[in-house]
Amino acid sequence: MSLETSTLDFTVTPAVHQATPEVRAELLADPGFGRLFTEHMVRISWSRQRGWHDAELVAYAPLQLDPAVSVLHYAQAVFEGLKAFRQKDGGIAIFRPDAHAARFQRSARRLALPELPESVFIESIERLLNLDGEWVPSAPEHSLYLRPFMYASEVGLGVRPSSQVTFILIASPSGSYFPSGVKPVTVWLSEDFSRAAPGGTGEAKTGGNYAGGLLAQAQAAQQGCDQVVWLDSQEHRWVEEMGGMNLCFVFGRGRQARLMTPALTGTLLAGVTRDALLKLAADLGFEADEGKISTEEWRAGCADGSLIEVFACGTAAVITPVGAVKSAQGSWTVGDGKPGEISMRLRQSLVDIQRGVAPDPHHWMHPVARTV
Ligand SMILES: *Cc1c(COP(=O)(O)O)cnc(C)c1O
Repeated sequence: MSLETSTLDFTVTPAVHQATPEVRAELLADPGFGRLFTEHMVRISWSRQRGWHDAELVAYAPLQLDPAVSVLHYAQAVFEGLKAFRQKDGGIAIFRPDAHAARFQRSARRLALPELPESVFIESIERLLNLDGEWVPSAPEHSLYLRPFMYASEVGLGVRPSSQVTFILIASPSGSYFPSGVKPVTVWLSEDFSRAAPGGTGEAKTGGNYAGGLLAQAQAAQQGCDQVVWLDSQEHRWVEEMGGMNLCFVFGRGRQARLMTPALTGTLLAGVTRDALLKLAADLGFEADEGKISTEEWRAGCADGSLIEVFACGTAAVITPVGAVKSAQGSWTVGDGKPGEISMRLRQSLVDIQRGVAPDPHHWMHPVARTV
């Protein structure tokens, strides 16, 4: 760890106007996803000369940006998404912040951005929760979604890695992804568009990957589908991801069931949920591996009954079952089109660990001290 980390002092300037407990309770009753934000944010500056400096915890407020700020033109930016959960005992715990900090560093490296030390990443979250902890919802399936991000804040149109960078952390109380019960999605196999190509930025959590996917998502919606499934960019044959989530295939039934998720080839995003579910599946006694599956194998497996469940996984929804598939070549259902038994069992196991109602054998939960 570099010296600068240990000497990073945070300036704390609490918001002047803060919600009353009654107003907060009203807002938290139906927070939705990504539309309600807490009252503070963390901001840390970086420059080539000074490294990370001027760490501050301030009121959540709009940013003032010069129109020539680099990120608006060349998209040099990365982000993360992780969650804090209200625990059974009233405390707060964050799910795998170390894994998210490590991925934030890998994404930053790929985008030629500076790496934020893990200790600062976690301290930022703890300090924000110290002021905004009351915004962590306690209803089942609700959580506080944390969004750390970093962008090129140098002013100028020259194309080069920015010599000034801004890190910000905001937080958004979020409700259940499935308020009326887990509902399987219908997916569109995108053969016209690619999310990522070998040597590209598919492995990094960067907004450009999402911007490039919006048109394909619109095409999927036109086909009556909820989500787009990304295939490899060369053969348009090998299954990679679904929207902003990883995919997992369940072959066989009962104790014989075997889970397989597409291997990380360099064009997939290494999901923290994906990794957790591989370990949880093994804990539950299932064979769980990384592999390769083509669209023909997906279709044939569903036709002959050897492939019974398919689900997508990610921080926001945990597990989303895939009920049906459509492509230019035709459509088919997965199993009976309903949420699969193993998918739902895995989902419950993970949710129970996150809420602190089940043991945490892998030490994934990071408890937050009440005062930092
Ligand atoms: C964030 C993300 C995921 C899921 O990652 P988690 O760490 O499980 O939330 C999967 N695919 C893409 C493209 C993503 O951006």
